[in-house]
Amino acid sequence: MKKVTIIVPCYNESASLPMLSAALQQLMDSQTAYEWEVLFVNDGSHDLTLEMIKSLREADKRFCYIDLSRNFGKENAMLAGLDYATGDCAVIMDADMQHPPTLVPTMLAKWEEGYDDVYARRTFRERESWMRRTLTRVYYKLLQRTTRFDILPNVGDFRLLDRKCVDALKQLRETQRYTKGLFCWIGFRKIEVEFEHHDRAAGKSTFSYSQLFNLALDGITSYTTAPLRISTVMGIVISILAFFYMIFIVVKALVIGEPVQGFPTLMTAILLLGGLQLFSLGIIGEYLGRIFHETKNRPVYIAREVVL
Ligand code: UDP
Ligand code: MG
Repeated sequence: MKKVTIIVPCYNESASLPMLSAALQQLMDSQTAYEWEVLFVNDGSHDLTLEMIKSLREADKRFCYIDLSRNFGKENAMLAGLDYATGDCAVIMDADMQHPPTLVPTMLAKWEEGYDDVYARRTFRERESWMRRTLTRVYYKLLQRTTRFDILPNVGDFRLLDRKCVDALKQLRETQRYTKGLFCWIGFRKIEVEFEHHDRAAGKSTFSYSQLFNLALDGITSYTTAPLRISTVMGIVISILAFFYMIFIVVKALVIGEPVQGFPTLMTAILLLGGLQLFSLGIIGEYLGRIFHETKNRPVYIAREVVL
């Protein structure tokens, strides 16, 4: 019998867990052709999440959990789940019911057809602000232009991965993870299924604009060195322009003479170049920071307790 692992990273999800566990139980009971394992990854929750997971475990041995020693973030929690998953395939889903467990049978059917990575694409983003939608769209366009592989918009972490993909992902131990990109990076045979995206069942999203901005920056700096290239090109273009301007000034000074003047030009040039230099330094710093973090070679997460 094939075994399916469902990985659920949980951070302060005590409000959603009862609904989720009921839905999962229903799913597992309806699909008897498979052996099931639900792997909760408690990502340092401050509420009753862990207690609730423990009592679920008491009642049903198919519920397993990993308790991380603190909050490591969803990306790292997912890796913990993949590390300990024992199934022939693994489904990653959010705890807040935004990823409907009812879609899992459809994903399993695609998996049986021979696909290795069945990803779910949102067809509908309920009540997300115009601003957030536009930013998301622009961001993906940018990322797609600058990388060699497709990073798909409206595709989150909700997906079914074959054991092959799980093993491949486990080899990627980078600390500042941008899993969305990693899924694309590993390749394999992919297929899309669609689902409707709803508001969270309970609680509120833990991702603020600033966190999303950071995640977005991580996405860019871990998949493309295009910003470095852009600053190089910018430097070359500005130098060429400056060279011609210099000739112009010298010739003008020789021909017409040059009473001291041009303070505005001077200020503009200094400020503009100063800004561009700081910007380029910042970009280099971003990459340097990543190198710094990776060279420390720390584990991506620490588990306090693993109950399988
Ligand atoms: N999550 C996590 N660690 C964190 C933040 C979130 O494990 O530090 C989990 C959270 O419990 C949920 C999933 O990641 O199961 C998605 O989080 P959320 O719903 O807040 O994100 P959104 O749906 O807004 O992208
Ligand atoms: Mg959510």
